[in-house]
Amino acid sequence: MANLHFHYGTMGSSKSAELIITAYNFKRNGTSVAMVKPRCDNRFGDTKITSRIGISMDAISLKNLDEYRPAPGTSILLVDEVQFFAPSDIDHMVDIADNHGVIVMTYGLMVDSNEKIFPAARRLIEVGAKLHRMESNCQIPGCLCLATHHLRFDATGHVIRDGDQFAMGDTNYKSVCRRHFYEIYHGRSH
Ligand SMILES: [Zn+2]
Repeated sequence: MANLHFHYGTMGSSKSAELIITAYNFKRNGTSVAMVKPRCDNRFGDTKITSRIGISMDAISLKNLDEYRPAPGTSILLVDEVQFFAPSDIDHMVDIADNHGVIVMTYGLMVDSNEKIFPAARRLIEVGAKLHRMESNCQIPGCLCLATHHLRFDATGHVIRDGDQFAMGDTNYKSVCRRHFYEIYHGRSH
């Protein structure tokens, strides 16, 4: 079994729910599980991983992984919102996986609302994390295509094209398919 995993998908593709269910299932058979999230993510309080479907679990909130080592006996490390960690944190995860015998399973976004890959996601690919795409459909009404992109909107409903890659919260985002992204972001059809 691979010891470093990246579960990626757009917002709303049930990544946090999947993480929480995975933690529950491991804990149920006595496996020691640690859960970590980046400190900048405080949408639901700093020490919980929460899914929009209404389930949550306690987690350790860390700014970076420089000093972090899982407690002795830990078998699984689950990392939420991994795109908000730095590439150097991914290298710490590699060390935890390869030299401390811990299976590291990360969950997060691959690309931002400008169709650019997050640095942490790129680093996960570079170091050979096993990729698992979590799928959901485009949020444009009636579209059944796979959501692959994010559109970010300002308060008046206009698309933001030069926004901060690390903006938090998702109330002004839509997960959309590639065709709708190009139509709305670039204002053209493909
Ligand atoms: Zn679509």
